[in-house]
Formats: sequence, structure tokens, C-alpha cells
Amino acid sequence: MKLRFWGVRGSFPVPGNLTARYGGNTSCVEVRCADNSHPDAPRLILDAGTGLRRLGKEMMQSEFAEGTGTAHLLVSHTHWDHIQGLPFFAPLYQAGNRFHVYARQRDDTHLRTVFALQSDNPYFPVPFEAAAADLEFTELSDDARFNIGPVQVRCTRLNHPWIAIAFRLDYEGASVAYVTDTAPFRDILIEQKFIRQPPKPGDPLHPEDAAKLKAMRDGVVRLCEGAQLVIYDTQFTPTEYAQRPHWGHSCPEDAIEIARDAGAQALMLFHHAPERTDEQLDEMLARHRAQQAAEGSKLALYAAYEGMEIDLSASGLGEVLPAPSTPVRSGTAISSKPPRMPVSAEEGRDASSPGAGSPLPPGPTQKVPL
Ligand SMILES: [Zn+2]
Ligand SMILES: [Zn+2]
Repeated sequence: MKLRFWGVRGSFPVPGNLTARYGGNTSCVEVRCADNSHPDAPRLILDAGTGLRRLGKEMMQSEFAEGTGTAHLLVSHTHWDHIQGLPFFAPLYQAGNRFHVYARQRDDTHLRTVFALQSDNPYFPVPFEAAAADLEFTELSDDARFNIGPVQVRCTRLNHPWIAIAFRLDYEGASVAYVTDTAPFRDILIEQKFIRQPPKPGDPLHPEDAAKLKAMRDGVVRLCEGAQLVIYDTQFTPTEYAQRPHWGHSCPEDAIEIARDAGAQALMLFHHAPERTDEQLDEMLARHRAQQAAEGSKLALYAAYEGMEIDLSASGLGEVLPAPSTPVRSGTAISSKPPRMPVSAEEGRDASSPGAGSPLPPGPTQKVPL
């Protein structure tokens, strides 16, 4: 099972020099299972944030250009940062391609309508029906279990406004859990309403809410149990979380606790805050790695960046690499830090990108959050 990260950011895209190494696109992770011995194994995509656009361009170099491609899109929830790439996903407009879209069932609207609305005329010029590819929608319950070919998929509910679901994929002994977006499961139960005045973290919980949160946490720990890799929403620092516990995001500390309780092998910090700079992410990762080492924890920690590739197999987590197309110093495998060369250099091949191929101007000297 090969993973490639195309978008790692939460909330909204943040291009610019301060986010160039980790990348500014929103959530999108490609999961490839096919290899020489299993050429028909499915192609999966976790979330359709703005990172999906470039994945779509790459897919158009393959069978998707001829209209003979099939892919499965698993959507954690339909907030903008998880679906905004879909109208710009080129393979969608090629007749013959087949896409299976999976997301949580809503009480009020069918999934197809939810996706069609985002391309409605006040927002986008091309109507959803103009997508020439075959699109099939599957609505999921919180605890759905199903197979996509030889890949086993399991879901569990998360603590997020209007509810998100996490996915776990198992394929030939390889396993990955994708857990975004979610608040921790201790201070506030977030359901289908907008919470104006959040409780203060640590305030007593209604017993019913406490029971629901416990069940939710147990579900997440079960989902991540023994996983080779857990990809987790770590948008907040503890200070930011204390100010906005009702926004439905976690801190690295929460993700580490879940991953350790679940006996996971590795944790990927993901859904980075838009205002978090590359340097701040480097520092955050280094600090938590040092903490894990000091505690004698075996949990391996990474922070996702665009172009990062991971090979998962029954024997464990393979090498973590920059994408082969990312122009890092030649022949250099980088173990965990994102390439120094900004992602926009790869974008240089994109005809729509102005200044293609030219070196970036020097970064700003002052450290101003985006
Ligand atoms: Zn999000
Ligand atoms: Zn969200």
C-alpha cells in the first residue's frame, strides 16, 4: 500500500513562502494498492481538498486520460477543505472514468445533492451534471465496514461540527487509519449544531455527553488498533485548543495519546493549521519526537508534507521519501523532514502557474504568521 500526500493543510489553502515546504493545499491523500502482482487492486483517495487538483493532473497521464480509469474517493466530511478540489479534478470530466464516492449519510440531503450544490451556478460555472465520468455515491453509517476489492474499510465517528468519520484501510497486512477532523473526547460533545459559547476545557460534562464521548474515543482507539500508520488531525496547539475547543480539532498531544493507547506503530501529524509556518511545524515535530524519545516510546512521529510518499507493507512502514518528482538534491532520501526545495518548483511544470520554473524570491525575514 503506497501513500502519497497531495494536501496536508486544514481549513483553507495557504500558498506562500512560509508554507512552501510542507505545502499549502488542503486534505488529500492518495492510496495505491496496485503493483505488478495485483494490477487490478483499487486506487483510493482520502478526501478531496485542493490537493486533489494536482493528483487529477497526474492521473490524466494514465488510463484516466482515455476514460478507462476507476478510483474510490473516501470523504471524511464535506467541509470545504475536504471537497474543494473536486470541481477542479480533471479526470471527472473524461467520459468513461468511474468514481465511487463514499461519505457519511446525512439526515436531510442525499450525498449526491451535497456535492452537486458546490458546483451550483452562484459558486461555479460548470454544473455538476457536466461531469462526464460515471459517479456513484455510497452513503455510510458511522460504523460502516465494507470492502473495496481486496481492501477492507472500516469507519468510526469523530467529534466534529456536523460530524466527520475516520477510515481504516487494511490490505495484505498493511494498515492505515485516517482520523480527521476531530476534537479530543473529553471536554465537549460536538454534534449537529453550531456552538456559540464553548464550555471551558475541564468544566464538568453532562453524564450523557461524557458517555457518548467515551464511546467515540473507544471507537477511534479500536479503529487505530495496531495500525502501522495513523494519520491524525493535529491542527491545534494546547493554547489554541483551549480558546476554540468547539471547532473540532486536536493537538499532537491528543493524537499521541490515542496512537499509543491503540498500539499504533507510527503517527502522522496532519491537517496543519493554515497559520502554522514551515519552521513552526519543524519545531513542533522535533519537540514531540524528543518527548517521545525521553519517555522511551516506540511510536514513530512524522509531520505530513505535500509530495511525501510512504510504502506500507506487512513488514511495516517502509522508507519515507519525498516524491521522486520533487527536485531534492539528487539521490538523497529524506527520512522525515520535507524537502528544502519548495513544492512550487514542482508546480513549475504546471502551465497555469506563473513564473514556472523560476527560483522563488527570498523569503520574508520577519516571522509573521499567515
Ligand atoms: Zn478540515
Ligand atoms: Zn471540518
